[in-house]
Amino acid sequence: MEKEMICIICPKSCKVKISYDENKEILSVTGNSCNKGLAYVKEEWTNPQRMVTGTIVIHNAIQKRLPFILSGKIPKEACLSVMEAMRQVEVDAPVQMGQILATNVADLSVDALASRSMERIE
Ligand code: SF4
Repeated sequence: MEKEMICIICPKSCKVKISYDENKEILSVTGNSCNKGLAYVKEEWTNPQRMVTGTIVIHNAIQKRLPFILSGKIPKEACLSVMEAMRQVEVDAPVQMGQILATNVADLSVDALASRSMERIE
């Protein structure tokens, strides 16, 4: 059996073909131009990970929402849990870029960090 995948590691966007058996074990990978692509495809096949970003409510700031990024990748299937957990988080300005907004988000051992600073307005 075969499946095609686009490698998203770099702008070349190689079209990679994976051959696998009935147990979903990879038999061969073709179409990747480098080993980074091979590693990406293997991880995506066995344990897909994602870096999640989003926004939360911020009070007393020039904007109504503050962008955040997680401190590390999480399993793809946990993305919704993270977004649900972060929907409950609200902060007050001021906030500094990199400030921890929430710890151990959705029990995934990652923190949510502010992606930018935001000053307080009165
Ligand atoms: S396989 Fe290598 S060259 Fe191709 S998109 Fe992935 S990282 Fe880029």
